[in-house]
Amino acid sequence: MYDYLIVGAGLYGAVFAYEATKKGKKCLVIDKRNHIGGNVYTEKVEEINVHKYGAHIFHTNNKEIWEYVNQFAEFNRYTNSPVANYNGEIYNLPFNMNTFNKLWGVVTPEQAKQKIKEQREAAGVKEPKNLEEQAISLVGTDIYEKLIKGYTEKQWGRSATELPDFIIKRLPVRFTYDNNYFNDKYQGIPVGGYTGIIEKMLDGSEVKLGVNFFENRQKFENLANKIVFTGMIDEFYNYKFGVLEYRSLVFENETLDNDNYQGNAVVNYTDRETPYTRIIEHKHFEFGTQDKTVITKEYPTEWKKGDEPYYPINNKQNTELYHKYKALAEQEENVIFGGRLGTYRYYDMHQIIASALKTVNEELIK
Ligand code: UDP
Repeated sequence: MYDYLIVGAGLYGAVFAYEATKKGKKCLVIDKRNHIGGNVYTEKVEEINVHKYGAHIFHTNNKEIWEYVNQFAEFNRYTNSPVANYNGEIYNLPFNMNTFNKLWGVVTPEQAKQKIKEQREAAGVKEPKNLEEQAISLVGTDIYEKLIKGYTEKQWGRSATELPDFIIKRLPVRFTYDNNYFNDKYQGIPVGGYTGIIEKMLDGSEVKLGVNFFENRQKFENLANKIVFTGMIDEFYNYKFGVLEYRSLVFENETLDNDNYQGNAVVNYTDRETPYTRIIEHKHFEFGTQDKTVITKEYPTEWKKGDEPYYPINNKQNTELYHKYKALAEQEENVIFGGRLGTYRYYDMHQIIASALKTVNEELIK
């Protein structure tokens, strides 16, 4: 008998397990994949730590969360500064003075602001109601057309007018010559990859890999007093109100006999025609000097049952559906839902850690 059955060995489940174990609780962690770590899992290929389920760059403004992850690994000084490739033209991201200068030849913040204002007024956007209007309002139509529209429509498989505006607000808009993708105070990549962090967090818990909760639900439910469920909340309820939508991804990995393929860890392809959204060159996350390189092309796809869900699509229809499931979840006395899939939220790693810590601490003082 266990105190907690934790379904999913990703970051949320691992933080929960670590804290609960520290307080003397007995945890069983199961995952249907045959490795720990969920989507933060990294694996060595040609001595390079490859982010197997997409690039993960740790960033936070919260000192406590930063100190928390630093107890499990040393973090390097990597600063994310992706570049955009629009039909062979290269622009700096996030949208900043380097981007504005390359696009319009403007030199001062004043000139850039004037240009954006003209474009916003010409487009007639006053109160942005969707991603397209929000983007035009923030950076004008030129940047929207070259750097946002194509990427967004590939990434989400939907028109930018059908998507929520908060998605584009993830990216800073800056009137300084600063290519740092994040505004947060703390940022870096764990030296040696993420898998080692999860390993340390799961030390002291029992871990069973390659097991599917849904194939033996009754048995698993009887094994523990409480369940921490980090899978898809709609699947937990057998999709009884309907199926929540997700975006999935297909990763195409290549090892190349080349020591530097693209000169940067992340290059976004922002035109509509290139079928992938970005190419990741993993060695640059750790300033690697290996003779070879590993690159990953990321192809977004529509999720269907059986695929891996990566991104919740938080539009109006899905949000309403999620709230029906959430109402059921709130009635549960012995099930805790967590993580990107359990709460249907576009959470980053630091937010996952913060929410797992909050929940486990509330749980353990009961
Ligand atoms: N985005 C864009 N162009 C870019 C990068 C991002 O239009 O070159 C938009 C796109 O809609 C994307 C969103 O900004 O889904 C959030 O980007 P972020 O890099 O935060 O996405 P993630 O790394 O989580 O996939």
